[in-house]
Amino acid sequence: MTKKLAALKGMRDILPYDIGKWRYAEEAARKLFANFGYAEIRTPILEETALFTRSIGEGTEIVQKQMFSFKDRGERDIALRPEGTAPVVRAYLENGLDMKMPICKLFYIGPMFRSERPQAGRSRQFYQIGVESIGFNSPQADVDVIAVMMKLFEACSLEDAELNINSLGCEKDKKHFEQILKEALAADVKRLCEDCKKRYDKNILRIFDCKNETCRAVLHAAPKVAEHLCPECRMHFEKVREGLTAVGIKYRVEPFLVRGLDYYTGTVFEVTHKNLGSQDAVAAGGRYDGLIQELGGEPTPACGFAVGLDRLMLAAADRIKPQETRIEVFLALLGEEADKLGIKLLKELRGKGVLCETCFGAKSLKSQMRLADRLKVKRVLIIGEDEIAKDIAVLRDMDTKEQKEIKLKDAADTHLW
Ligand code: ATP
Ligand code: MG
Repeated sequence: MTKKLAALKGMRDILPYDIGKWRYAEEAARKLFANFGYAEIRTPILEETALFTRSIGEGTEIVQKQMFSFKDRGERDIALRPEGTAPVVRAYLENGLDMKMPICKLFYIGPMFRSERPQAGRSRQFYQIGVESIGFNSPQADVDVIAVMMKLFEACSLEDAELNINSLGCEKDKKHFEQILKEALAADVKRLCEDCKKRYDKNILRIFDCKNETCRAVLHAAPKVAEHLCPECRMHFEKVREGLTAVGIKYRVEPFLVRGLDYYTGTVFEVTHKNLGSQDAVAAGGRYDGLIQELGGEPTPACGFAVGLDRLMLAAADRIKPQETRIEVFLALLGEEADKLGIKLLKELRGKGVLCETCFGAKSLKSQMRLADRLKVKRVLIIGEDEIAKDIAVLRDMDTKEQKEIKLKDAADTHLW
């Protein structure tokens, strides 16, 4: 037998019987985003690699280890997008959206790619739902972004999702804090793992992402970034916290939360859920006031988040109950003549919006009734040679088991059912 092919490692199919829950979340997101004034944007899945190295940062895990980047046939360096913010900003700048949209609030839903070790809640193709609110520097804009994210969790029955927030401060604050951290950890560098030793020199904030026990122990007493903010950034963070409280959003300040992408400044946040195992972050985001300038635009403040849809599904799987659609009528057709009548009946019924199904070329009534049972249909309309000879069809209600005869010409008249 020919060997069957499988999906690539870390990639999977989302199957028809799961899709209802995915669509439920996607549709909830679309509805909410419309309500909050976000417009959809769809960017390409492939981009120039430079877009990500410049925005996410050379020294980050994503760029160093996780990017699916390769040369195309024209020897150009391209990459499958590992995240959505940089492409949205690229599209914003390339298309002059600042001039074309009176308010630039965008959302996206789509696949992202990272070459990570696959495990529960971590795959190589995963899906994100994200928003980017571009052009507002008020702390209340951060609150508004967080509010729509938390609403999405509510809509997916994850009211118990937990919000953790922190502030990294402006670029200046970040640089200043890196120096403070360097000095504080100088005596402990030798205890850090090999990766963190490199991070210490190149991109010290990334040390906070390390899962290594010893590194964690060293960092336990590390200085906290939010305690070293300039007055302006400290005030901004305070107002974000007040704003969250004012709109009734619970949060916890997580002093070591730094996020794995270099473009973040100011407010950063992460949402976790207890239903998830060690990969418990279901969403993350923050402010990125320097990114638009970094990618060639005017200095423009911005803030956004990305929800990991795969993890949202893991956390909410048992709580989301998509509406089930039941087949109104199954046509049990027997013989070529019945099939011919059936195709016309289907057209008529579908034209009226009636959900109907059949199985052409069936061998026996028994097998069709079994199929109708498995499909949990409401009714079966039986048409065989005998029925055609008598100019009738037999209509069976599958719930009450009652049967009645109706005239063939009335078969698509649903009010006679
Ligand atoms: P983690 O710490 O779990 O690696 P991250 O900081 O790399 O997350 P972000 O880049 O902020 O994640 O992406 C936002 C969200 O996207 C995450 O909170 C998570 O829900 C989801 N996500 C990220 N990477 C993956 C992955 N490989 N598989 C599934 N979901 C992912
Ligand atoms: Mg990651």
